[in-house]
Amino acid sequence: MFASLGFLFAILSIARCVPVQQAASRDKVLLVSFDGFRWNYDQDVDTPNLDAMAAEGVKARYMTPAFVTLTSPCHFTLLTGKYLENHGVIHNMWFNTSTGVKMPYYVTQGIDSWWDNGSLPIWITAQRQGLKTGSIYFPGGKAKYQGEEVYMKLVEPPIFNYSNEVNWRQNIDTVMEWFTVKNLDFIALYFGEPDSTGHKYGPESEQRKAIVSQVDRTIGYLRRRIRESGLEPNLNLIITSDHGMETVIKDKEVHIGAVENFTFSDIQFELLDYGPNGLLIPKEGKLEHVYSVLKNAHPKLHVYKKEEFPKRFHYANNPRITPLLMYSDPGYVIHGRFKVQFNKGEHGFDNEAMNMKTIFRAVGPAFKQGLLAEPFESVNVYALLCELLGIVPEPNDGSLEVLRPLLRECPADGCGNTDI
Ligand SMILES: [Zn+2]
Repeated sequence: MFASLGFLFAILSIARCVPVQQAASRDKVLLVSFDGFRWNYDQDVDTPNLDAMAAEGVKARYMTPAFVTLTSPCHFTLLTGKYLENHGVIHNMWFNTSTGVKMPYYVTQGIDSWWDNGSLPIWITAQRQGLKTGSIYFPGGKAKYQGEEVYMKLVEPPIFNYSNEVNWRQNIDTVMEWFTVKNLDFIALYFGEPDSTGHKYGPESEQRKAIVSQVDRTIGYLRRRIRESGLEPNLNLIITSDHGMETVIKDKEVHIGAVENFTFSDIQFELLDYGPNGLLIPKEGKLEHVYSVLKNAHPKLHVYKKEEFPKRFHYANNPRITPLLMYSDPGYVIHGRFKVQFNKGEHGFDNEAMNMKTIFRAVGPAFKQGLLAEPFESVNVYALLCELLGIVPEPNDGSLEVLRPLLRECPADGCGNTDI
């Protein structure tokens, strides 16, 4: 029985011009995100392991994240290939405009309805096509999508030190076990640094340089463990991030509460005090007044009616976006009723600002060696992940053609799982 099935399988495989051996094993993919790793963080720190990875694989000059350049939205773009207005995760915070209730980042990770609003992350799509997937701390990994969730997952506790290097190595060891013992095909692994340090001390600080050294050591450890685990010939490793980091300007700050002729008694719902982004719902009949007093209130502040928000951001065309929205220029955060933002570094700014650009590196059997690739948008990463995993993507805003130049030439009998 088994022999005849095997024979049949071999015939079918030959008929499709795919070597029999390939069908038995597919290459694995590890997607790693180091939160808030600005595109040029490796230029003022010695990073031998990142450099070695670039020499052996592909390095993009930089990657342009989606707008708004916040953690959950940009990670969900990596997982879905969609801009924010199309995947709906438009902020780090869940909110209810009727009750005014807002939930912080960590709590929002566990609110299924915030994530599950029409777009499937690659974990679920891959699992529906027979693959096994995992997530360690990755934004979006905690939620259920149409009742389904990622097969293996770790979720960080509510109070958590994101910079603990021992924990970083434990998580890498867990990834190796999931690939080798559990035979997972795709794992998304998240680290909360250098974002936390960039916020606290600023992107130009010595502390930020030190945490980038820690990231580089960790990449060295990761690649050593990949080799020791025998995964190197069959694992495509991508190291990327969600956004960059900008130094906060404390001079002539944007403070909505201090704007002349503006009063919060005209406002039904507000989401302010979150870096350079703001959402507002004026009370009935107050929209034109609020808009007119805010739109020229500060030279670094940009206030728009929802339907007039610049289309290039691919942000406002979503039911979750409020009738008025705003963003500020690089360096300026938006204070609401009171000045309650004290970070030295911040993100969320225009994704065309160079300090919001982030990294993309890749190494493995599918990737060219020593290639410095031109910049691209992060919406295109999803299509690449699907190609590497050999799965059919969901409809998305990216294109495989953008990143195909990163891949090795395919042999005549097809790409995918061949050791070239
Ligand atoms: Zn982030």
